[in-house]
Amino acid sequence: MEINLISDTVTKPTKGMLDAMFKAEVGDDVFKADPTVNALQAKAAALFGKEAALFFPSGTMANQAAIKLHTQPGDKMYCDKWGHVYNFEGGGAAFNSGVTSHLIDGERGMFTANQLEAAISGRSDIHVPYSRLVCIENTTNKGGGACWDFEELKKIQELSKTNDLAYHLDGARLFNALVAKNETPLQYGALFDTISICLSKGLGAPIGSILLGSYEDMEKALRIRKLFGGAMRQAGYLAAAGIYALDHHIDRLEEDHQRAIQIGIALEACSFVKKVEPIETNIVIFYTQDGVDEVDFVTKMKAKNIHFISMGDGKLRMVTHLDFTDAMLQKLQKELKEF
Ligand SMILES: *Cc1c(COP(=O)(O)O)cnc(C)c1O
Repeated sequence: MEINLISDTVTKPTKGMLDAMFKAEVGDDVFKADPTVNALQAKAAALFGKEAALFFPSGTMANQAAIKLHTQPGDKMYCDKWGHVYNFEGGGAAFNSGVTSHLIDGERGMFTANQLEAAISGRSDIHVPYSRLVCIENTTNKGGGACWDFEELKKIQELSKTNDLAYHLDGARLFNALVAKNETPLQYGALFDTISICLSKGLGAPIGSILLGSYEDMEKALRIRKLFGGAMRQAGYLAAAGIYALDHHIDRLEEDHQRAIQIGIALEACSFVKKVEPIETNIVIFYTQDGVDEVDFVTKMKAKNIHFISMGDGKLRMVTHLDFTDAMLQKLQKELKEF
């Protein structure tokens, strides 16, 4: 039995999802003529109470399109120092949009409205990059699946409005946060100008992300997606997986969260584990004791067909997902105990 906890992106489509994909009605989406893509976009927009939605091949492209549509070259965006948009999108904000990233020194990938307020430099001094955009990430990836406090997100929205800044949410794992905190998509739709969500993470689709926003912003995003090379043809086969995921794979995220907590408990009991970070959703981050080589630990577990990653500096990560079962959890618990 292979146990793959490298990421929640390793899942394969379920039988029900594959059936839905096979049965999809398709057309050429570049001519807006794919009924299944149109249905997915309409469904997502309604779910979040947004005017429009656009299907993207990846979360990176959806975020990059959002950054592009909100900014001009020479502008500045604010994000946490651990933000995916800054750390893991290949420098795309600079490359695609000519945008400078102002990094805020948050906690587990989350900053406060006060920290943002202290950082905002406005658009009056010609020497300074113009402030244009605030990017939030929920849950935080590098922050170990941490969830933002909704009241803080509201304060940041007010601050963004006062300062005429666009407000974007990288919601690659937003559904994990919604399930963990008992919040709704509508709450988030009302707060942010644009939101990206991933269908290929916890929701278990093989590919795809969605960008949500106003009609006007999504018309801009359509043009940007074209120039980024992300306009697709009979993408309805993929969109069908997305519709299936939204219908069947949201509530079950709670199971992933429960299994992550169980992993955390098993790790806490290991003498070679120094610390387990708080577990709020499906990401478990932990550290080995000083003197215990974490790469060696990863290699030895790999030999037992248990896979997860080292993030450097003694930091290790396991991510639970749709294809991680109770039987796998039991095997992992046993192997950790015996290690
Ligand atoms: C995975 C992820 C993305 C997008 O990734 P893609 O692999 O391009 O789909 C964006 N933001 C966060 C926080 C992520 O974890």
